[in-house]
Amino acid sequence: MKFEKVYRYINPNTYINIFSKPHWYLEIQPELKEFFYDYDGIRDNKSTKWLDTRSEYVTMICEFLKANQILLASFGDDLDNDRLPIDAIVIHHSSTPPDSSIDVINTLGLIRLYAPYYSQRKNKEFGQPIWSNHTYKNRQTFVAYHYIVRQDGTFEHILQDAQIGWHCGDWNHNCRSIAICFLDDLKKVPPTRQALQTAKKIIRTYPHCKLLGHREVKLSTLCPGSLFLGNEGWKNILL
Ligand SMILES: [Zn+2]
Repeated sequence: MKFEKVYRYINPNTYINIFSKPHWYLEIQPELKEFFYDYDGIRDNKSTKWLDTRSEYVTMICEFLKANQILLASFGDDLDNDRLPIDAIVIHHSSTPPDSSIDVINTLGLIRLYAPYYSQRKNKEFGQPIWSNHTYKNRQTFVAYHYIVRQDGTFEHILQDAQIGWHCGDWNHNCRSIAICFLDDLKKVPPTRQALQTAKKIIRTYPHCKLLGHREVKLSTLCPGSLFLGNEGWKNILL
């Protein structure tokens, strides 16, 4: 396999064999634990090297994924059978640079959501090839959001209403909600005016849903950022 990026901290060739195994995610547990599990973007004491290495992992797995060089399941259970009537919209931010590609968001979904689920011995899927039951643009997708809104106000409609996004860390809420994610890092800034307008238009197409930030569902996360709630919070603009 030929790699587009030049890697400094990791050697992607050492992963070719690993990603060809159905349980590849078990073989890279130390790396996944170090860089991705329970990581919500608020660790701020990490060295530049740590951040660069983490970034290289994302790029590398993204390259493997795009080249179809990660073994995944080609069929599996219909995980959307648990879908409930939709009564909520949950707002997220990607906590990534705003020019991140959908492929990067897809990669993060695979390694931060699906890999840890398939790595738990208590789940019947433990050790099996990963299956999301969702496709986007004719490929299996691991994006957890129904909509991804960019800074310029353009958006991607990834998951359909009947599909469950693995987005808020709580299965009941996932089953009954639509997820909208701002492709941006909103820890300390609000979304752009254009992005807010687009999100507002999407929200209006679900008139019976209550609006929640991820942090209102899962108290341990700051997603979608520190300026979402409160009297001056940008949640008010979306209501
Ligand atoms: Zn979130």
